[in-house]
Amino acid sequence: RPVVGVLAMQGDVREHLAALEAGGAEAVLVRRVEELAAVDGIVLPGGESTTMDRLLTTFGLREPLREAIAAGLPAYGSCAGMILLADRLVEAAPGQRTLGGLDVVVRRNAFGRQVDSWEEDLPMSGVEDGPVRAVFIRAPWVEEAGEGVDVLARVGSGPAAGRIVAVRQGNLMATSFHPEITGDTRVHRAFVRLVAARGGDGSPAGAQATHA
Ligand code: GLN
Repeated sequence: RPVVGVLAMQGDVREHLAALEAGGAEAVLVRRVEELAAVDGIVLPGGESTTMDRLLTTFGLREPLREAIAAGLPAYGSCAGMILLADRLVEAAPGQRTLGGLDVVVRRNAFGRQVDSWEEDLPMSGVEDGPVRAVFIRAPWVEEAGEGVDVLARVGSGPAAGRIVAVRQGNLMATSFHPEITGDTRVHRAFVRLVAARGGDGSPAGAQATHA
């Protein structure tokens, strides 16, 4: 089983751990650099992206995590986690930084004040057996995606119809929504498959390939 960490500073940490275990991974908490070094992949939960940026610095994880992701560590970001993985932001807070890695422009709080939260069943590429219940909470969307980015899902209706809300690029995956709160573990399973495909099968050779 691949070992997948959950960045444990903010957000639905316990729900992500449970969904990863159900999705076939050994799920562990990541708060320290030594814990980061032991995982084959990592989940960045939602929360508040400027607070997470600050906490990453406080925990001494900002540079190690940025470097690990740039070196190929598989990462899945949900909501604020998507913001952290974006190369560029619209409506960033003053001085707000990201870890980067995804060649996208992400707009924070994109759904607007009127639509603080939004729920919809969305077909998602890479996830079989029907649509995913997408729960958006003060969510971002992907405003622009580079050529190397696969669009996995778009909003189907309402004021945000057509907006990109799930993407994959190489070792990285991100959703604007929170799959951990619906009890449906298929999005996590898709990420665990990505981790395994990148070599994180728990074997020594696999572990080396992941970080190569
Ligand atoms: N609006 C938050 C931010 O900008 C993200 C919200 C979420 O993660 N649910 O960081």
